[in-house]
Amino acid sequence: MYNQKAYELGANGSCIRELYAYGRQRAALIGDENVFDFTQGNPSNPTPKKVEETVQSLMADMNPLELHGYTSAVGDPAARQAIADDLNARFDAGASADELFLCCGTTPALAAVFGALTVPGAQIVALAPFFPEYRPLAEGAGASFVVVPPDIPDFQIPMGALEAALTEHTVAVIVNSPNNPAGTVYTEKTLRALAQLLEEKSRQYGHPIYIVADEPYRELTYDGVQTPFIPNIYPNTVVCYSYSKSLTLAGERIGYVYVPKQAQDSKALYAAVSGTARAIGHICAPSLWQKVIARCAHLRPDMTAYDKNRRALYEGLTAAGYEVAKPQGAFYLFVKAPDGDAMAFAERAKNMDIILVPGNDFGCSAYCRLCYCVSYEKLQRSLPRFRELIESYR
Ligand code: PLP
Repeated sequence: MYNQKAYELGANGSCIRELYAYGRQRAALIGDENVFDFTQGNPSNPTPKKVEETVQSLMADMNPLELHGYTSAVGDPAARQAIADDLNARFDAGASADELFLCCGTTPALAAVFGALTVPGAQIVALAPFFPEYRPLAEGAGASFVVVPPDIPDFQIPMGALEAALTEHTVAVIVNSPNNPAGTVYTEKTLRALAQLLEEKSRQYGHPIYIVADEPYRELTYDGVQTPFIPNIYPNTVVCYSYSKSLTLAGERIGYVYVPKQAQDSKALYAAVSGTARAIGHICAPSLWQKVIARCAHLRPDMTAYDKNRRALYEGLTAAGYEVAKPQGAFYLFVKAPDGDAMAFAERAKNMDIILVPGNDFGCSAYCRLCYCVSYEKLQRSLPRFRELIESYR
């Protein structure tokens, strides 16, 4: 006997991983240089030198028993203080170490926060396009998952549709900016309108509707755009952050939950985050990486290579006649299928060895996602192939 729902989740792997595996098979057959694989959101910047040096110096100088031992369940005090200091220096957040909970990236952070917020009958709202893992994470916590359709072509927040989706059972709205897959950064104006709507609805329903800000791409922005810090706009915000993308540490698994003291029931909520993490067996983020963060929380990503790819891809695709949402952040680009059918478009691209992810699992079936964490040379070589692809629709 086993859990049928868990079986289905495990047996039906993610569409992105399947496409990536297909790309690897093709590469083995026809050569890696002939496969234009834009599937996986694995950062292509090198990990900052300062991070590498910090690892080496910790390994050389620190007592191994302390370096490799358990930290407290909520995280190393020095790491939590360093993160608080960084948030305060950048956003005047008024954060303190005891509002931070260290964990293995935003995936378990979201699981812990969703679990902490889910009461019987709870609904968690996602704004399409959204990171597909939100659904199993919310449903795994026992909530129902409600999707607000995308605001095409700007991919900001469609306030009318969101308002229609909110009910007395809504406990949270997930906000992911910079956005995977569209590369959108929600403007301060959008976020203020969202805050106003959620304040009104929280009053109407007699309980807070929290924003869960999923921010693994917070620092990955272009053209001088800054990601607004949502707790400064809407106090009932819980932040899930990760160093996977900003410091190219995706495989090392380090990030945090920030429950600001100004959020309603913040202390109880923090305890519930910690309690959920405990109940799902998620105790103690990797000790070495907590100690690295204690010394490196202030580092920022170098956006030069991502920006070069972003410009080349955006300009190349628009010149070829594609409709593209111009990314302002992250390292993804969302391109419209010429006939509005993302599945068919991805299939046609696949037959030309261009591997894209159809937007269906992101809640947007007219667009495909490209991750441009590829070499500039390969990206340039893919452009004639993209031109051929759109020609095939004419
Ligand atoms: N949220 C979004 C929007 C993502 O794109 C990703 C990873 O690609 C994650 C969360 C998970 O990141 P982490 O490595 O921190 O678990």
